[in-house]
Amino acid sequence: MTIYETVIGLETHIQLNTTTKIFCSCKADSWFDPPNTNICPVCCGLPGVLPVLNRAAVEKGVLLAAAMRSEIRPLSYFDRKNYFYPDLPKGYQISQFDQSLGKGGYLELPVPAGKDQPAYVRMVSITKLHLEEDAGKTKNEGGRRLIDFNRCGVPLVEMVTGPDLRSADEAAQYLIRLRQLLRWLGISEADMEKGHLRCDANVSIRPQGAAYLNPKTEIKNVNSIDAVREAIEKEVERQIKETEAGRRIEAWTLEWDEDTGKLRKMRSKETEADYRYFREPDLLPIRLDDEWKRAILANLPELPLARRARFMQQYGLPEYDADILTSERGLSDYFEQAVTAFGGDPKKVSNWLMNDVLRMINEAGVSASQLRLSPAYLAEIIKLVESNQVNTNTGKALLEKVEQSGRSPSEIVAAEGLAKVSDDVAIRAVCQEVLAESPKEVNAYRSGKVTLMGWFVGQVMRKMRGKADAALARTILEELLK
Ligand SMILES: [Zn+2]
Repeated sequence: MTIYETVIGLETHIQLNTTTKIFCSCKADSWFDPPNTNICPVCCGLPGVLPVLNRAAVEKGVLLAAAMRSEIRPLSYFDRKNYFYPDLPKGYQISQFDQSLGKGGYLELPVPAGKDQPAYVRMVSITKLHLEEDAGKTKNEGGRRLIDFNRCGVPLVEMVTGPDLRSADEAAQYLIRLRQLLRWLGISEADMEKGHLRCDANVSIRPQGAAYLNPKTEIKNVNSIDAVREAIEKEVERQIKETEAGRRIEAWTLEWDEDTGKLRKMRSKETEADYRYFREPDLLPIRLDDEWKRAILANLPELPLARRARFMQQYGLPEYDADILTSERGLSDYFEQAVTAFGGDPKKVSNWLMNDVLRMINEAGVSASQLRLSPAYLAEIIKLVESNQVNTNTGKALLEKVEQSGRSPSEIVAAEGLAKVSDDVAIRAVCQEVLAESPKEVNAYRSGKVTLMGWFVGQVMRKMRGKADAALARTILEELLK
């Protein structure tokens, strides 16, 4: 039996989060606007208008190219891609063809361990990275074809990978990492459901180990990471079945139907359409001199995968922790600030952050930087617990109290009398009180039911409103019950 290998390349369209469109001053984000209300003669391509390039779109494109380790061309050109489609009022799209902003590049994609295999790193090459304008949208409604031009002229980066991914899971991982990177760089909201990040997948199969490529199909219209995974899995299954039955795979374009979870054949893919590319005569080339490039790259932060590796190395964090703490840039900054303020074992900070603070963040639906519980306050709480001034439960309660009031942990401890009672005399008095009130339990304990110890400790903690040193209470109780 032949063992097949899956070969996947992904084409992504990334909507840059500029304020205005790429060649006019209409606002870029019109998600909530009624159709055709965010348009002007430039983005609708009326005769006689001239495009003016948005500087911010170039700068965001350069940041992405740098993060993908692309070579950034000092001189890149815009070209007209000519095709006729109702949502393209000009009859051409301004794009970049042979001399685009980025050349080559790659992403080192960490793939987590699965059932049968350890974790590994997949090198994913980038074969295309260019700037272009978006087209409008069409939809069918009541037998009519409706067109909305609001999206015309929204800045996009088109980025295409080589046929380097080997499973639906790897494709999903690539999109997860790309989304993380785009948000980290602050260049796109990368929300797939809103079309900020769109993905087409080219899928083929071949006998494992083969070096050639078989005809591929292209899956379009997948707008979530789960849908990408599911659509690819279904298509691979179909291709294996066809091949095993002795039939040829034809280069179809398939459309994913979110509602039915099925792939539908859109068209047999013709040979590469003739777009009659030529240089855009209304725009100058992008001249990226050293000074401008330096100024842009000064804003390139440490990238998420590099920071993840550094967290493991510098702070001795397990991969699991490092992965979660670098899932978002604000969270990873928060962690580092808390570690610096705490000054002790970084793993302790990681535990508090991942167990309790993350839950607070998720419940409140805010980002780490918006918490009133600042990294310094978190560090203060951990110090109070570590130095035995409050017990762990009080520490956890303090997280919420600080978040609600915005007051410092030590202020709250002083005001509410939350300091842990480790005073032997005070605890001893309460232990004696508890034993005097529970003769039945004392007898049971003395006749062998030693599991009651937990209950006694609980009674002492309750009387002392949770502030007693539980370990000390246990020692005293054991002594009194001898
Ligand atoms: Zn416009």
